[in-house]
Amino acid sequence: MPELPFVTTLVENLRPLVEGHAIEDVIVRSVYVLKTVDPPVADLKGRRIADVRRRGKLLVFDLTGGLSMVMHLRRNGRLEIRPSGKGRTARDLAITFPLDSGTDLRLIEIGPKKAASVWLFLAGQENGREPLAGLGVEPLSAEFTPAGLASMLRGEKTQLKRFLTLQRYIVGIGNAFADEILWEARLSPQAMTTALDPEEVARLHVAVVTVLEEAVAAHRKTFAGALPMREPLQLLRVHRHGKEPCPRCGTMIAVIYYENRETYYCPTCQAGGRVYADRRRSRLLK
Ligand SMILES: [Zn+2]
Repeated sequence: MPELPFVTTLVENLRPLVEGHAIEDVIVRSVYVLKTVDPPVADLKGRRIADVRRRGKLLVFDLTGGLSMVMHLRRNGRLEIRPSGKGRTARDLAITFPLDSGTDLRLIEIGPKKAASVWLFLAGQENGREPLAGLGVEPLSAEFTPAGLASMLRGEKTQLKRFLTLQRYIVGIGNAFADEILWEARLSPQAMTTALDPEEVARLHVAVVTVLEEAVAAHRKTFAGALPMREPLQLLRVHRHGKEPCPRCGTMIAVIYYENRETYYCPTCQAGGRVYADRRRSRLLK
């Protein structure tokens, strides 16, 4: 799933390709992609893309004439720019926006589960409505402070891994970067939010900021101006690196599978040497 570093790089590299250009048409290929009916999607025709922004894992397109388009890639949605008309009947296509630049901006799905979504709003209304309503603080903004984090942790009694991915406290972090952040902070993914001492809260705050800042820089370098398609595994240190040595201590990275999500952690650095039970396996054995 595209997370903050991926979407940041996508937005930065997309801007020079689409900003200032008019949407000439809209071709909806997937019945699932549009989440709003009013204003109608045909209203996009003739509008120019004034700005593209990131909010959490979402993209916001500010359009001329008072319209705003919000896009959520979810797990498999990706954006690409193709010469006009190329691949317009492709099976992976969700929606296409032919632009007056002679190119098509296409939202495609690179996996079997179709969940990428597009919402259309009158400008200004998007902030109070799903999916932007209720989103938490941007972790790389000045509003994300150690004191703020301490208060969020006190207010939601849950496991740290889940807390980091909720979006209503901190935005932009998903399954992969939650693992990376907890490894950096040397905290267990299963530790309870309410059980952290002040020193651990401070460590978590630093880890959120440094891991995401480093990842944004690494994504910029890796994609070098191109639109990112796949999360580069080599930029992750523990997530999806199961049974490989921990880059810090050499212990084998362990994996927990739960509710179709995988959590990777170092038993030595993060869990006092414990290897947690694989709950998926124990459920199957019952
Ligand atoms: Zn380790």
